[in-house]
Amino acid sequence: MLDGLLKGKQALVTGVANKRSIAWAIAQALHRAGAQLAFTYQGPRLEGTVRELAASLGSDLVLECDATRDDDLDRVFQRLQVAWDGLDLLVHSVAFAAREDLEGRFTDTGRANFLMALEISAYSLVAMAQRAEPLMAARGGGSILTMTYLGGERVVPHYNVMGVAKAALESSLRYLAFELGQKNIRVNAISAGPVRTLAARSIAGFTVMEDHVERASPLRRNIEAADVGELALFLLSPLARNITADIVYVDSGMHALAGFPEQAAVAR
Ligand code: NAD
Repeated sequence: MLDGLLKGKQALVTGVANKRSIAWAIAQALHRAGAQLAFTYQGPRLEGTVRELAASLGSDLVLECDATRDDDLDRVFQRLQVAWDGLDLLVHSVAFAAREDLEGRFTDTGRANFLMALEISAYSLVAMAQRAEPLMAARGGGSILTMTYLGGERVVPHYNVMGVAKAALESSLRYLAFELGQKNIRVNAISAGPVRTLAARSIAGFTVMEDHVERASPLRRNIEAADVGELALFLLSPLARNITADIVYVDSGMHALAGFPEQAAVAR
């Protein structure tokens, strides 16, 4: 039924590191719906993997982009302008924090690591949105999607500086949505439950988070990357044409709980 939903649409997908990446699940969903894809990869170490994955979806528009480098960002959007003469969809699925900051206390976060986490995980959305704006405006509008987590709203042990970065990301998307809405550009986020990816593995106690979801969430099961892919397809598509500045959860309902996972598990 969704085949062809994004036919004729051109999408830039950032944040693919390997086949477990949430961005990869999103790319597959967009491809199935008929979108044409371009990809970025963080640096030479990831190039081969991302090129191979992109090729499996018929894409050879694969560009290096370290989100901390303005030159890289400029080059990517210039290339899209030349290749596509515009852009319809942007998937921002990039985040980073130093491993030690996801293990120790938030209180001990150093200045440099704090700024790095915020730069890569939050400012990068702004940096991409400002460059996507003219390309999307040339199409009469567009849709931008980023990835967040409940730890940006409430304390999740060990999420620490990444939670603060997600709070900044979520606020940024609302300001972007407010301003870019005038050009018919929508900006939304998906707040996903735990998915075992490269980035997730650096969060201390990640398996405890998964256990909590399984025992205490309304659906009593963990989500899969494909669940995020399908929600992303909806949010990026015309089906969501009047949804913007929003954060939609795909977390088996975990966000509804006030906490106390032990009691939640026992209560049923
Ligand atoms: P992942 O490791 O597969 O993806 C993270 C991506 O960020 C990688 O592709 C990496 O190359 C990229 N990245 C890091 N630093 C970068 C930089 N300086 N420049 C450019 N790219 C950079 O992990 P993932 O779980 O798929 O993460 C994708 C997004 O989903 C992140 O925003 C993450 O916070 C979010 N998220 C993940 C989960 C989860 O449980 N996995 C849950 C909710 C939200």
